[in-house]
This record gives sequence, C-alpha cells and structure tokens, in this order.
Amino acid sequence: MQASRINLLGLTRKGIEAFFAELDAKPFHGRNVLKWIHKHGVTDFAAMTDVPSRLRERLAEVAEVAIPRVVLEQPAGDGTVKTVIELGDGQHVETVYIPDGGRSTICVSSQVGCALDCSFCSTAQQGFNRNLSSAEIIGQVWLATRRLGRPPSNVVMMGMGEPLANFDNVVDAMDLMQEDLAYMIAKSRVTLSTSGIVPALRRLREVSDVSLAVSLHAPDNALRDQLVPINRKYPLEVLIPACHDFIRGDKRRKITWEYVMLDGVNDSIAHAKALIRLLQGVPSKVNLIPFNPFPGSDYRTSPAERIEAFRQRLKRAGIMSMTRKTRGDDIDAACGQLVGRVRDRSRRRLDGIPVVQEPMPR
Ligand code: SAH
Repeated sequence: MQASRINLLGLTRKGIEAFFAELDAKPFHGRNVLKWIHKHGVTDFAAMTDVPSRLRERLAEVAEVAIPRVVLEQPAGDGTVKTVIELGDGQHVETVYIPDGGRSTICVSSQVGCALDCSFCSTAQQGFNRNLSSAEIIGQVWLATRRLGRPPSNVVMMGMGEPLANFDNVVDAMDLMQEDLAYMIAKSRVTLSTSGIVPALRRLREVSDVSLAVSLHAPDNALRDQLVPINRKYPLEVLIPACHDFIRGDKRRKITWEYVMLDGVNDSIAHAKALIRLLQGVPSKVNLIPFNPFPGSDYRTSPAERIEAFRQRLKRAGIMSMTRKTRGDDIDAACGQLVGRVRDRSRRRLDGIPVVQEPMPR
C-alpha cells in the first residue's frame, strides 16, 4: 500500500524549504515549486520545468498538490458569487467572492462549522466538525486566483468558523496570502475576524501583522453574553485591552468592530452611547452589519433609519463608522448565512460556554 503523500499546497516558504531539506534537495527548488503552485497554478510536478527531472520524479512519489473541489458556484444578482467546496471527507464549506469596482474581496472559511454558538449566526446552527487544514484554507485563495485570473485584492477571514480557534493553520495560510512567492497581498488587505478568543489574539500579535476585525455586537457584558457566548469566558474588560494591544505602536492601524444591527436588541441610541464609552481611546472603525435573516432565526433587521441614527451618533463622537452593504443575500451568501454541509460532532454548551480549542503556547 502506498503511504499517503504530503500535500504541498498548505506549506509556507519555511515549511517547503524544510520539506526539501528532508529530501536532500536545495531550498531554492522548494521556493520554485511554491511559485509554480501559487503564482502559476501548476499542480503537476512534471510541468515544473526548472526543477531537475530526478527531483520531479521523487516529488511525484512522496508529494502531491491537492486542490479542494468546487461543487457549486452560485452567482447573486449583485455580482457576488458563492462557491461551495467539497473537502476530502465529503463535507462542504463555502467561499464568497465579492467584486467591488476594481477590487475583489474573497471571504474565506477556516473551519467546518463553528463551535461558538453566536445566537444570530446560521453557521452556528450547523454545529462544528473540524478545523480546515492550511491547504484547505489557502486552497480557497488558489481557486479564487485561477477564477479571477489574478489574486484577489483583499481577503477576509470571515467565512465559516472561528479563525483563532484554528490558530496554526490560519496563520500559515495568511502567511501564504502575504508571501511574495505566492499571492503578495498586503497585510492591510488581509483581515482576520474573531469573536474574541483573547489568549489566541495575544499570541497572534507575536506572529502576524494582519488587520483585525472583532465581532463586538454589544456594548455591555450582559447583552454580549447572550449574543456572543464566548464573552462569558473573555468579557469586554479583557477583550478590549487585548484588541488595543494588538495595534499598539502603529498609529496607522485601527480595529474594525463588527456590530450586527438587531431590531430592538442592540440598536438604540443608548447602546450607541455605551459603545462610544467602551471604545474611548481605542483607534476604531465600526462596521454596522444589517442582520441577515436565515430560516429559524427570531431576530429581525433594524430599520434603515435606526441604523443611520446609530451611525450618525458614532460619527458625532468622532468614531468612523459605515454600514456594511449586504451582498449576496439572495443566495444566502451574506454574513452569517454560510452553512456548508457539516456533520456536527460538537458537544457545545457545557455550562453554557462554547467549547473551543485553546491554542497551546509554543
Ligand atoms: N467567527 C468569526 C468569523 C465570522 S465573520 C467572527 O465571529 O468574527 C462573520 C461576521 O458576520 C461576524 O462579525 C459575525 O458575527 C457576523 N454575522 C454572523 N451572523 C450574522 C447575521 N445573521 N447577519 C449579519 N451578520 C452576521
């Protein structure tokens, strides 16, 4: 029986150099292979013509470049395209392509399902199965690049899953997004969105300089405990300083706070005032996200006037704020509508606190 071959798709520059060292091959051949895979989209070693033929044969024996398979592409009226990707084990995750003038943003998934159980998110209803590998994460960018004919201008880690609960694989994939030999996307254009796993956030600061978005959604602990239950573990007085520390030392950076507008729940002027107090002194942008409904949810979207009044209140206090355009909602590709096909294996809600994998200190 043939031993399973290593998938080179998910290896960073360092990782591929180490793998080539194991094969007694020169590191620059590894770097060339990295370029073939990500810059040129070549997956067949035989076509990598600047790699010595003996080495190509060896690679074909021990390695592979396995790309996830697109099983559905669903275009929305506004140009947004939802793609459904089938993983090796038959489960599905979703990537969303969002064209915007000359820009193109792709929204990438990091887990099969999600363990965090936010009350207003449909991915949460699916439960959690497993982390995506770095190959499955960067594979979404590989596929988008081939489809667009060039790398996307922006990547947001805002698809299915909590990226900080899949720390190492997400960091490796984001390295490849920024890597000169691969996609060369600027750090300011790679955004990780988290619900606030504080120890992982502190660790991220040591290894990555991507942009940070945080799913805040409430200005006080009582309400945030209900909407984003991980708040019971890492409440606002712990979360906000950790976010501030993430960008400290760089005056150009700001935290993007995501705030879903739920009718009658978190959208009053009193909430806006509490939010202003909470964010005092923290370089901030606030993204107001009109709630995207999904079957079985009891929430309603705040009326447009209330969202605008909330935004104006923040603006008067000097907080930059915008209302996120709802994209792709006619195909359930909008924020919080991604569901994939997930075999739930989680035993969530132990003591009401979602179970997430804690990153181990290295
Ligand atoms: N787990 C990460 C990544 C998800 S990003 C995180 O929580 O940040 C997706 C964003 O859409 C998050 O801010 C999420 O809270 C928000 N969202 C989830 N469900 C939504 C819904 N139904 N309508 C609008 N936004 C939603």
